Amino acid sequence: MTGSIVVVPGSEETVLFEEAHRVAAELSGADGTSPRVVGVAFDGLTAPAALSPGAPDEVVHVLREDGEAFRAGAAGVRARATALAAAVSEPRVVLLPDTPDGTDLAAATSRALRGGCVTDCLLRVRDGELTAGRPAYGGRAYAELGFEGGPPVVTLNTEALGTPETAPSGSPSVRSVEVGIEDDDRVRHVETVDVPESDLAKARRIVAGGFGLGGPDGFQVVDDLADALGAAVGASRPPSDEGWVPYDRQIGVTGKEIDVELYVPMAISGDSYHMRSVNADTLVAINADPDARIFNFADIGIVGDAFEHGPALAEAIRAAKDERTDGQSAEGEQNTEDEQTAEGEQTAEDEHDDENGQDEERSTAEATADGESDADGPEVTE
Ligand SMILES: Cc1cc2nc3c(=O)[nH]c(=O)nc-3n(C[C@H](O)[C@H](O)[C@H](O)COP(=O)(O)OP(=O)(O)OC[C@H]3O[C@@H](n4cnc5c(N)ncnc54)[C@H](O)[C@@H]3O)c2cc1C
Repeated sequence: MTGSIVVVPGSEETVLFEEAHRVAAELSGADGTSPRVVGVAFDGLTAPAALSPGAPDEVVHVLREDGEAFRAGAAGVRARATALAAAVSEPRVVLLPDTPDGTDLAAATSRALRGGCVTDCLLRVRDGELTAGRPAYGGRAYAELGFEGGPPVVTLNTEALGTPETAPSGSPSVRSVEVGIEDDDRVRHVETVDVPESDLAKARRIVAGGFGLGGPDGFQVVDDLADALGAAVGASRPPSDEGWVPYDRQIGVTGKEIDVELYVPMAISGDSYHMRSVNADTLVAINADPDARIFNFADIGIVGDAFEHGPALAEAIRAAKDERTDGQSAEGEQNTEDEQTAEGEQTAEDEHDDENGQDEERSTAEATADGESDADGPEVTE
């Protein structure tokens, strides 16, 4: 398999094979020979036949000597990377999809193969050598990277590659390779949790803090509100310059461009260097200065202290979430009861429930509105 282009698709990513064939053609030598395209199917995860639509020259079916099946996700990464490195000797390049599992596996495989790893890229062939191109500096520059040392392991941006015009076709030979690997004994516990997108460029909701927060401790109110909203944390440039937050949190022309459904800037003035990179369906600003430029962009403006209104907002959101959860479980209980009653009665009760639900919502809204108009409460400008 030396010199082959090795493809490790996550599912039926025919586009990876299409790209492998394109790269193989560009790498073909003067004698017309080009690298073979080899698909890898891990036993228990991908059936070798599932790779046929990609028309690799060969499918390698990797099995464990102990008869165990390979595992998907984080718990199986170490075993798959070790097996992959053992099953493919000195490949020309290893291609994976740019998915969370693909990037995990790429990182572990490149370590095992002692090669370079580039994620979320597209491959080019320059003077017979492979390079990997990918966006840099939040998309404002394009970097092209060469490789040294062992074989390159890359994850390809399959969205950018698009759908192949004519999907490759063929019936590759299948070769089984048994690999002896130790179990993933370092992984004791795997839990899937719903975390907000950490890459600001991809996040759908962002709460950001500005210089007005006064220091790194001031970002606790941002963290708290972001946590309540399930949002990512961002910042204007001064907090990042001051080292209160890492540089990758910076939003603006010299930071990340964001495109979100909800943006909540706290103690951010709204300078054009910041706002030029903000695209938000809804912007809720909290600023102590009623003349702050940020209010020109706000759908909802809260004039006041971020340390007062941030926590109040977080508390209100958590209370609303709890109310909704309680409502849902009550609805569940009611439904069970309803199922035991006659159909006619059930309809009547459901209607009654709906009314109650609406009344509850209305009274919550009124309470909030009362609070807003209170002299001590937040002043709201729209
Ligand atoms: C070449 C260049 C590139 C730049 N690139 C970027 C960039 O990428 N991103 C970026 O953000 N900036 C960038 N800047 C900086 C930009 O010009 C502004 O200086 C910066 O955005 C201001 O950050 P700020 O709003 O957090 O701070 P400030 O301008 O200091 O504003 C702080 C705000 O907080 C409010 N405030 C204070 N205390 C409170 C409180 N307790 N509660 C509520 N509100 C409060 C104040 O009323 C004020 O509006 C760049 C500048 C240059 C020259």
